[in-house]
Amino acid sequence: MLENKNNDSTSLEKLGEFGLIDHLTKNFNSTQKSTLKGIGDDAAVLDFTDKKTVLTTDLLIEGVHFDLSYMPLKHLGYKAVMVNLSDVYAMNAIATQITVSIAVSNRFPLEALEELYAGIATACKAFEVDLIGGDTTSSKTGLMISITALGEVDEDKITYRSGAKANDLLVVSGDLGAAYMGLQILEREKEVFKVNPNNQPDLEPYSYIVERQLKPEARKDIVSLLQQLDVQPTSMIDISDGLSSEILHLCKSSNVGCNLFEDKIPLDPTVISSCEEFKVDSTMIALSGGEDYELLFTVDQSAFLKLKGNPSLSIIGHMTQASEGANLITRAETKIPLTAQGWNSFESE
Ligand code: ADP
Ligand code: MG
Repeated sequence: MLENKNNDSTSLEKLGEFGLIDHLTKNFNSTQKSTLKGIGDDAAVLDFTDKKTVLTTDLLIEGVHFDLSYMPLKHLGYKAVMVNLSDVYAMNAIATQITVSIAVSNRFPLEALEELYAGIATACKAFEVDLIGGDTTSSKTGLMISITALGEVDEDKITYRSGAKANDLLVVSGDLGAAYMGLQILEREKEVFKVNPNNQPDLEPYSYIVERQLKPEARKDIVSLLQQLDVQPTSMIDISDGLSSEILHLCKSSNVGCNLFEDKIPLDPTVISSCEEFKVDSTMIALSGGEDYELLFTVDQSAFLKLKGNPSLSIIGHMTQASEGANLITRAETKIPLTAQGWNSFESE
């Protein structure tokens, strides 16, 4: 598919490494004050003056983290940036720069990399981050992308995983489980396509969840919202691996317990209907689905009135003493210990 997308494909060998870097990066312009020098020298030069700097990196491998048979390269470029920006926002920081390193086999024509960089460019523009460097190398087989993101934050705003206290409220942005259900739809359609390539899937009813899988949006808006509301979270993490494992990370880092209320977990109607279709429990999917890139944070109870009723946020529980453990309070009001996989149904109290 990639190789045969059109007839005018340009081989990477023809361009050479420098020609390739130049071609892919020529339309990127730096806009951040802190970027003194971006692409084009041996290293970028940054100046964060009185702010603190946060830095995070992620490595994505074809066949492990993404499947190019249903992930368009443009979306992959966009998502690879989102994954990193989400980690910056989870520190309550604002992302400012990224570097992008790629290893690519010569089965990819130049046009494929142009698509990848078009997605990266869209993300950089929408989230106001500068592409300031990277590295380009060849690979024997697939595609690898490593992105590093930098961000800036006032020292007193930095939010670690470790600051939650007993009685703090537990809050999540957006809704959960959609990216995972979107992946189930894409994988089902891939199997159908293998059997009958003429079968054109109708993804329209699933557009929300498929989009959540292919084009996640990092929650920069939540960092701004908290700033506007003058709410300082006591702890924060982004939800890349599912709600329950991220709650357990907060509990462990902060040495607290938690009560999570099943009926408060935000679910989109498409998630509920697709869970019915796949005969899976929607709570289980929200707890262990992953790839939602929402922000999960705790706040002091005094922030309740500022957050209550905000359409971007759901108050889903509260923290407790560590000795009480991390629990799910079900709709039937039973208390079940949370596990990284969701919950352990054999251990109900
Ligand atoms: P070096 O030999 O010092 O590693 P390169 O020739 O790899 O230098 O890189 C030249 C410039 O292009 C540097 O500014 C580098 O950060 C940038 N660069 C290289 N590869 C990429 C890439 N894939 N995406 C963005 N910038 C890149
Ligand atoms: Mg290099």
